[in-house]
Parts: sequence; C-alpha cells; structure tokens
Amino acid sequence: MTLVALLYVYINIIHAFYRGKIKKANKMRRSALFIVLLIVVFSSCEHKPKEVDRPKIVIGLVIDQMRWDYLYRYADMYGKEGFKRLIKHGYNCQNTSVNYMPANTAPGHTCIYTGSVPSIHGISGNNWIDNLTGDGVYCVDDKNVHQVGDKSGAASFSPANMLTTTITDELRLATNQKSRVYGVAIKDRGAILPAGHLANAAYWYTDKTGTFTTSTYYPNQNPAWLQAFNKRKAGDSMVKLGWKMLLSPDKYDQSTVDANNYEKAFKGEKAPVFPHVFDSLGDTDRYAILKSLPAGNTYSIMMAKACIEGEHLGMTNGVTDFMALSLSSTDYIGHQFAPNSIEMEDCYLRLDQDIAELLRWLDGRYGKGGYLLFMTADHGGAHNASYLSDLDIPAGVTYVNMAADLNAYLKVQFGADSIVRGIVNYQVFMNYAQIGKTDYEVWEVKRSIMEWLNKRPEVSYTIDMNDMDKTPLPQPIHSMAVNGYNKKRSGEIQIILNPGWYDNGGKTTGMTHGSWNPYDTHIPLIWYGWHIPKGETNSPVDMTDISATLAALLHIQAPNGCIGKPIPALTEKHKEEHK
Ligand SMILES: [Zn+2]
Repeated sequence: MTLVALLYVYINIIHAFYRGKIKKANKMRRSALFIVLLIVVFSSCEHKPKEVDRPKIVIGLVIDQMRWDYLYRYADMYGKEGFKRLIKHGYNCQNTSVNYMPANTAPGHTCIYTGSVPSIHGISGNNWIDNLTGDGVYCVDDKNVHQVGDKSGAASFSPANMLTTTITDELRLATNQKSRVYGVAIKDRGAILPAGHLANAAYWYTDKTGTFTTSTYYPNQNPAWLQAFNKRKAGDSMVKLGWKMLLSPDKYDQSTVDANNYEKAFKGEKAPVFPHVFDSLGDTDRYAILKSLPAGNTYSIMMAKACIEGEHLGMTNGVTDFMALSLSSTDYIGHQFAPNSIEMEDCYLRLDQDIAELLRWLDGRYGKGGYLLFMTADHGGAHNASYLSDLDIPAGVTYVNMAADLNAYLKVQFGADSIVRGIVNYQVFMNYAQIGKTDYEVWEVKRSIMEWLNKRPEVSYTIDMNDMDKTPLPQPIHSMAVNGYNKKRSGEIQIILNPGWYDNGGKTTGMTHGSWNPYDTHIPLIWYGWHIPKGETNSPVDMTDISATLAALLHIQAPNGCIGKPIPALTEKHKEEHK
C-alpha cells in the first residue's frame, strides 16, 4: 500500500511539471525531489512492515524456590530498580499457583515452559520410578549423549524424557527455526527442560570443573565465547571472597538470629554463621559451594549475558530469540538455611541488586520495551519444621525408613518381599511383579498399604489414583493430584501429609518443598517490558497459563500439551495497542 501511495504522489508531481505549474527555475529542485522519492520508494520496498509484531528477545527468568511473599517480606530493604521496578512498571499476577503435585524443580520448569502438567508432559518429579521397568529415572538422564569434553563415558543430559513441546520449541517451529533458543542455569534440569527439544543449546554448571558445560545432544557445542567465559573462572573468584552480609547485622530484622539450630553449616565450617569463609577448601569443594551462594545467581546471570552477546541474540531484524535463564542458588540456600534465615534475606537483597543490573543491561542492549521478560518460580518452599514446632505450630519431618517398614508389614500380610519399590514424590510405587507372586489382587495390597499409612499421625489422606472417588478430597487437592499423576511415571498411591510436614531425608535443618500447600505452590509471576501494561491482578492464574500467555503474545501455537489459558489482562491490552 505504501508503495502504491508513493507512486501515486510521484505521478501527480510529474504531471504537475508538464502542466507548467512548476517553473523552469525549479529544475534543480525537481531533480532533487526525484532522487528523494526514488530513495523512499526503494527503502519502502526493502523494509516492508512486519505483519506480526514480536519483541527482539524474550527473557524467561525463573527463580528457583522463590516464594511469592519474598516480593514483600524484604521490600523495605530492596532498591528501586530490581523487584520494585518489575512490580511498579510490569504486570503482577499476585495469585499464581502451581496446579499439580509434586511442587519440585523439574516439573516446575517443565510446566512453566510447556503449559502442561506431569500427567501429560511426563516429568513427574526430579526423579521417579518407571512403573514398567522398575528403574529409577533422573528427569534429564539420557544414555545416548555425553557431556562435552567428558571422556569418562558417563551419560549426560537432554530433554528426551519430556513428552511435549515447550513454548521455546514452538517459537522455533513457528519461525522455521530462525528464532534461537538458549537455556542457562546452575542446575542441568533448570537449563535443559525450559530450552526444549529444539534448543540451540542449554548450558549448566558442573562442580567437577567449576564452569558451564553442555552435552552432545545440542548442535552448538562449546562455542569460542563459552570457552573464553569458562577460562575466566569468575564464579570461583567470587567463592574465594567468601559470603559476608551485604548490610550491617542490625538491618536483617526479618530473620532469626544468625546462630540457630535450623540451619546446616557449609563444609569446613563449625557453625552456620556469617561470615562464611571457604579458604580451607580444595578446588572441587569450592566449586560445589558456589551453587549454594548468592554468587551462584550472579555467575548464572553473567553466563546468560555472555551467551546473549556471544550468539548476538535479539540482533537479527524481525526474529525473536529466547533466553531461558533459571537461578538455582536461591533453592540450594533455601534447602540449607530455610526461609527465616539471615542467609535467605541476604540472598534476596543481593538478587534484587543482580536483577536491577540485568534490567539496566537489557535496557542498554534492546531499549526499554524492546524485550519481553517474565519472572516466576518453579515452586515455593516450607518453613523449617522445627522452627514452626518451637512456635507451637503443628509441623514435622517424616522418618526415613517408612518404605522399609511398610515392606516388612506387607511381607507378613502377603508373604512377598519388596512389594513397595519406593516412596518417591509422596507417592507409593508398587512392584506389580512381586504382587503377582502372592495369592492376592493389587487392590487388596493397595488397601492394606493405605490402611497402614493412614494410621500414621502425620498423614492426612492417601489417595488411590485409579479410584479417586473413594477418598473425599477438597477440590484443589483432587485436581492437583490428577494433574500430577502420570500412569507410567507416578506411584499409584498419593500421600497427603498434614500441613507443615515434609520428607527431608530425616534432616531437621533446612527445609524442602513438594506438597500441595500454599507455601510450596504460591509463586510470583511478573510480566515486564514489550507491550506489557502496568498493573496487577489477584484473579487466580495457574502456572500452566504462562506458556499459553506467551503463545498469545507472540502469536505462535501453544505447546502441544498445553492446558493453560492466556491471562486476559495481558492479551486484551496487547490487542488494544494494535488497533
Ligand atoms: Zn529445591
């Protein structure tokens, strides 16, 4: 249309010359006008307007184990340019929930990026037992690939166990693979699952060398920029500085005193107190400790920036690239120190500064509004159970030998060994071959297991996942159990513990997550940047809605197992802007 309009104007001007309306004295000006018009016509041919408007880059920022309340709990000490900038200028979905069990890292990252749940995407936990083979499976294990540069023959990681596409896969499919997708995280699963099957690469941290690595699954193995980044060993330099409090001790008024019984010391430490110093440790111990320091987050952001720069992401005209960045250290610190520690508070104050710096960097590179960023978490986390008990709030840690005791009981009842393969993800995995050796049916054994478990004081319910109507359940728990149940990769009996209780390998320090309860499943979700309106909502949003919303904003297909819906406030606003 532009071209036609310009030609029309040009023809009219020529016509005017011939009609003598423009004098001969204007000959020079006429030639100049002719040249300008030619340039305009040609340039409008070359840069035809894009039919579909998309951002230069999408930044997915997942903060591992970030409880929703951390946005507010430490707000008095946050600066203006980190979390507060996202809240003030972005769109804050205050009531976002993990809508399945177990609320763990691998299912969480998978749900964010697939809009799907374990029953469909198959990542039913960080680990699970394969009901067909009886084998234990780690979510991203892949015997067909190996770590780049590792000649030991050890298997490495890929997204092969994930049964659906991700939003990042769909972006690649929608653009004939012109869009490029990278995943970065300390945790392998935090990088691999978000980046999807078609990723250009996923990079994760290995404590063997204290650097980022990848596997032969990816086409883009160890590029020169990665080798240069790893050579700097910036992460290790940060560990050598130790972990000191960012502020003076009296400023940390959201936390228990530093020395307490709810925390676990680092290797080589006598007590879990500041300053944490790692001078006495050897290389590999120091490399491992980076994961559990705020520096692990800083190092991951440095790595994501190196990847963006090295691969020139977001710099190809008309192509949207994707950086899926997950910050894992928040989770390691949570597991070791729990939410009421000075360590956790300090971690978030430092993360707030890291986010401010990242946003400034993205502004400089893509311009404000040139990038679309969403920040969320894979799950939340519980308070330390002993801390709650000491406050007379019912809470506790389950004991470690439950599966062994259950098997001993079942042997007496049914006469076979190892009827239970294990209790993983609060699910009982049964050994059907062993049950076949007895004179009893599966349902009889199952009933006996449930009766045994139901007698335990910390157990609220047990659910027979293939006969759910037998257990009266509040609706949210019912649907979260259904969404989390994958017939091949989940245990047939789901255990629901009393609130405040968790399985932490018997440990009384630190904490964990994985249950249906709000502390584990209420997560932050803030959208920021490209075409995102300012605002907030308390309307319920499911974790599965994140990918559905991204698909709507980018005008691409939702991932092939997506059960979520686009968030109306974001997608409707987007439409209005384009009227
Ligand atoms: Zn965790």
